[in-house]
Amino acid sequence: METKSEVVSLVNISTEKWPPRHRTYFGSLEVRSPAPGEPFAITPIRGCTGVMDLGDKRTTDIRITAREIAEDIAREINGDSGEGSFHGVFVAAGELPTAAELSDACRRLEEFQRKLVAAADLEWERTKNPMFITDLERRAARQLGLEKPWLYDPKPLVECPVCAEKIKPGVAVCRSCGAILDREKAAQYGLVPPRRARRDRSDTRAEADGAGKQEHEPDKTSQ
Ligand SMILES: [Zn+2]
Repeated sequence: METKSEVVSLVNISTEKWPPRHRTYFGSLEVRSPAPGEPFAITPIRGCTGVMDLGDKRTTDIRITAREIAEDIAREINGDSGEGSFHGVFVAAGELPTAAELSDACRRLEEFQRKLVAAADLEWERTKNPMFITDLERRAARQLGLEKPWLYDPKPLVECPVCAEKIKPGVAVCRSCGAILDREKAAQYGLVPPRRARRDRSDTRAEADGAGKQEHEPDKTSQ
């Protein structure tokens, strides 16, 4: 039965732009994001009539309430990023969100963002590899105003002058071919004998006194 048009408010406190939502019963719907300086944006949601296929060319209309649709969209947007996933979208009880609803949503969003940042910190500690930090985690850190070493793009790689493999700038030894690229640094870590002591060790291959020259250990390149 078609009653007076019911409308519920889907509230979004995140500045994230969501791709439009699609449903067979209403087509496409854009969830609004707050304008700069606005604490939230409201997307009004109306109820719809869907058509249910009963088979044998018989169909029946089913009424889907505005609240059901709004809850469904909120669940879809919030719920795809793991445990406690929340992206700042909720259905207000009334036409406008109450202060309590808004502060609850802010708290949940911040909680989830902190969780993402903690996961990124852990990943960083383990790997020091910015490739393993997700866009979601970077965005969370930025929105919380946190400075993190993993927020930035990795330093561009350079080419090993010996084997032309991509290597990190400033490394002592090429990981690919074993060439010593920074003798001083390599000696510091005991990878080559210190310069002075070298003369006593006739067995080391690094005998040639080509100071400043890169050395190559060809045994590691052969595959
Ligand atoms: Zn190399």
